Amino acid sequence: MKKLLLILISGIMFSPVCLSQIKALVGGTLIDGFGGKPLYNSVILIEGETIIQVGRVGEVKIPPKAQVISTEGMSVMPGLWDMHVHMMINGHSDYAYWDKKYPPLFEKVIMPASAHQLLMAGVTSARDLGGPLEESIAVRDAINKGKIPGATMYVSGPFLQHRAYPGTEQFRWGINGEKDAREKVQKLAKAGVDCIKLIDQDEMTREEVFAIVDEAHKNKLKVVGHSHRPNEIRIGLEAGVDNFEHTGLSSAPSYPDDIVKAIAERTAQMSKGPLFWTPTIEGLYNYEDLRDNPEKLDDPSWHLGLPDSVIADIKKSLLYPGQLSYFQLTPIRKPTLETKFRQLQKSGVVLLVGTDSGIPMKFHSQSTWNELDVWVRVFGVDPLQAIKSATYWPSVFMGVDKKVGTITQGKQADIIAVKGDVLKHIDLLQSVDMVMKKGKIYK
Ligand SMILES: [Zn+2]
Repeated sequence: MKKLLLILISGIMFSPVCLSQIKALVGGTLIDGFGGKPLYNSVILIEGETIIQVGRVGEVKIPPKAQVISTEGMSVMPGLWDMHVHMMINGHSDYAYWDKKYPPLFEKVIMPASAHQLLMAGVTSARDLGGPLEESIAVRDAINKGKIPGATMYVSGPFLQHRAYPGTEQFRWGINGEKDAREKVQKLAKAGVDCIKLIDQDEMTREEVFAIVDEAHKNKLKVVGHSHRPNEIRIGLEAGVDNFEHTGLSSAPSYPDDIVKAIAERTAQMSKGPLFWTPTIEGLYNYEDLRDNPEKLDDPSWHLGLPDSVIADIKKSLLYPGQLSYFQLTPIRKPTLETKFRQLQKSGVVLLVGTDSGIPMKFHSQSTWNELDVWVRVFGVDPLQAIKSATYWPSVFMGVDKKVGTITQGKQADIIAVKGDVLKHIDLLQSVDMVMKKGKIYK
């Protein structure tokens, strides 16, 4: 009896070996995320959470007990990153209403649903820019501990800005003086945020902006700056902001010369590292199409994780897409997007894929592929470079490129696969066939 028990116990103890059985993704075209030529007939071996070998059929020896997963006919690539999401919102059109009604559901319902939707869309990592502090950290950590499914999240916690808009104090912190600026950054650093998000920095004093950036850098945190107005960019560049968001400047046709020059002066300084820019194009670019054919809004992909009452509430707010005040200026802004995008490209910034998903009509389940689609199909960006902006470069920005972001031996197995050739048809990414995160298959 004792012997039997021992055998049973040892069986249980050894069961983790089974869990870490080697998986082999075999046959597909591998796009590794570095931007170079794809590898045909690829083999990726994965043990536990880690990629242990990458090569071609016939060259890589597949262990006899490996679980073989065919990727024949598929494009295989690193899990996507979305560098600008808002987990606390889900496409509802009325922010004031949402911010009043839903904070009690943020941590347990809304934010986990957003992160889960991202993951199922092939987005294995995402950066949340502006959310309530404790909830953001709690959701990120719950995902990292494997308690809930979701994209690996990098969070900024609350926006730092001149003054919180009334009713948004939970996720927007006003700054009052240099000392306060440093203390608030320290508080965020201590809480464990992954970066600092600045907005309305043109309304702060110079001292405050400089103090925020300096204190963030002292705490090894990069600073992401909103850039809707010219002076947000000007002061941000002076103070050393590492990454700007949006193309901005409303319906103005292009960036003024002094800003173009200032960006180029910054990108010339290699010792400071790349200047990153997340243009968040697709929401604006696709608005008129969506207004005229709102079928996308009926796609149930964005219901995942949300209670029926919340889904109904969001649907109700989107009944008349053509009447949302949020988008009335968009048709005038649209033609300026490409001009600004080209100016950024030429100035030497490193572009990142990000979407602002969560804003009115922009669901976490649909945004990221649309951003890539506009870059590649409309603006003619090389698909390999666009994919690099959604995989390798984001991991560099977050300082985790040694661990994740490309399909490389030794890195975490965050891998997606989609039938067909994504380099020819980038919009295939709208329905990925396989999603693997940390070696575990979610789809
Ligand atoms: Zn945003």
